[in-house]
Amino acid sequence: MTLLQGALVSVCVSLVLGGCGGDSAAPTQTQATEQQTAYRWKLITTWPKNLPGLGTAPERMAEQVRKMSNGRLDIKVYGAGELVGAFEVFDSVSRGTAEMGHGAAYYWRGKLPIAAMFSTVPFGMTAQEMNGWLNYGGGMELWRELYQPFGLIPLACGNTGVQMAGWFNREINSVEDLAGLKMRIPGLGGEVFQRAGGTPVALPGGEIFTALQTGVIDATEWVGPYNDLAFGLHTVAKYYYYPGWHEPGPTLEAIVNTDAWNALPEDLRTMLEVAVQATNDDMLSEFTARNKAALDTLVGEHGVELRPLPKDVLERLKAVSEEVVAEAAGENELAGRIYESYMGYLESVRAYHALSEQAYLNARLSPLEQ
Ligand code: CA
Repeated sequence: MTLLQGALVSVCVSLVLGGCGGDSAAPTQTQATEQQTAYRWKLITTWPKNLPGLGTAPERMAEQVRKMSNGRLDIKVYGAGELVGAFEVFDSVSRGTAEMGHGAAYYWRGKLPIAAMFSTVPFGMTAQEMNGWLNYGGGMELWRELYQPFGLIPLACGNTGVQMAGWFNREINSVEDLAGLKMRIPGLGGEVFQRAGGTPVALPGGEIFTALQTGVIDATEWVGPYNDLAFGLHTVAKYYYYPGWHEPGPTLEAIVNTDAWNALPEDLRTMLEVAVQATNDDMLSEFTARNKAALDTLVGEHGVELRPLPKDVLERLKAVSEEVVAEAAGENELAGRIYESYMGYLESVRAYHALSEQAYLNARLSPLEQ
């Protein structure tokens, strides 16, 4: 190779790698190899494939990562049941069957009861408050500590905002009406429902419609108007109750296998984190924008009867919730620290939001809404 040919090769490499600075900025052999390596990942979810909102969010996230990385990190998304069942996502990502998963931490309550606090707590934090706790209040560090023994890294990846109490085929006029009611309701809310007299049933989203239609369950909660309309729940239940006392702002999770994460170069890790963070924010925007139109369709076109849960029912559920959540703290030392962190943050943010968000929302109510 002549000196001129050598110089041209050097220029080409600099252009390809985007580095034209001095020697100190020249890419190392390792960096050059990393920039040529494509990582093909599988992401398994607890949702039916492409379900609006919950299912489309990880698809959008994967597409953003693909574009940002110019195809170097290519994540293929699988719906529940395509590779593994909805409730097998945690174990499958832990084992490395897939590199990544998307779901909700309360689905792993049988294995890790305290994990529910990282999704939602009955009468607990809203979406805005969960994001504050996780990102700036010490919550994320505790979540990572909880999942670390399972070889998993958790990330907040979506929030639906306050959900609806759910769909019922009989009226709920008093606490007694909960007695013997078989209801699909996950997480700590399910435990509360049980102590209030009901029978909670754990079902993934994709099995709810048939279970309600065939009478396996008498009632169900799912998400809110946007997602519930998509499932057609109005065709198998008459009454739609609010508010979602059991899910006031559930955080959805992305979980990443720790070995897969460690194998990624730093730039791809950053792209993934940014896309997940964007998804976390975007989902809340989407549900906020679409729930009211879907509710209008449910009530106006399908004749759904919208009802508030009676005050005494909510008061009973709230009292039981305090017991259930406090008991979850006794599981072990880490559970105790998670409980203390969550409740400490909740107490503080609730006091501030009483005179900011809540005071404002109260002030904004029209006379008819008061
Ligand atoms: Ca729900």
